[in-house]
Amino acid sequence: MSIHDNLLGINDRIRLALDRSGREDEVKLVAVTKTLQVDKIIEALDLGVVDIGENKVQELAEKMEILGDRPKYHMIGHLQTNKVKFLVEKVHLIHSLDRISLAKEIDKRAKASNRVIDTLIQVNVSQEDSKFGMKEEDVIPFIEKVLMFENLRIKGLMTIAPFTDDEVVLRNTFRGLYNLSEKIKVENYKEISMDILSMGMTNDFEIAIEEGSNMIRVGTGIFGERNY
Ligand SMILES: *Cc1c(COP(=O)(O)O)cnc(C)c1O
Repeated sequence: MSIHDNLLGINDRIRLALDRSGREDEVKLVAVTKTLQVDKIIEALDLGVVDIGENKVQELAEKMEILGDRPKYHMIGHLQTNKVKFLVEKVHLIHSLDRISLAKEIDKRAKASNRVIDTLIQVNVSQEDSKFGMKEEDVIPFIEKVLMFENLRIKGLMTIAPFTDDEVVLRNTFRGLYNLSEKIKVENYKEISMDILSMGMTNDFEIAIEEGSNMIRVGTGIFGERNY
């Protein structure tokens, strides 16, 4: 299947999942382009893709170099503190904020570049597969520590579900992230928002949307299997 046909199919499935949940809002599709050559990315951009996601700083920085300001760049992978500087000029959204030291560095670098960087807190809801992300109970104390950072803005939450076909496990994971975001909303912090819930990948994005996702990160579903 071509990238064109895959995108049409995914957009249909997003629409149907929204309909099933009776939702009238939108879901943003982040096309995950890790390991891909830029010609494939340009093909997707020509087909209307705007947001692209990468999980490695070096690869993302190389693609920023080539593609310039055309796409919106999402950092979706684990982020080492000493690599923030390579992303600071062009990154649109960092999905993997998971510790204070990283928040401090993002804030510092953003300030030096005279910008405010949007971030999502990565939460390890399932506590199973994924090595990264904060425990649910640590999220509110974390928010209270980073509220004063003026050049880092928290816009929502992100999670990676366990690698499983078990629909119950997937649904519970996504529901857990949704419930946490509702709990944070109740706190009414004026400095942050909970507008974005980044959850759902190729194998589970429909369940994620049914559970409240409004940003999905899809790679193989658009571009086919990756060659590492
Ligand atoms: C690779 C990756 C994705 C996309 O995975 P697919 O199964 O190819 O859709 C989404 N999120 C993160 C964090 C990833 O590393």
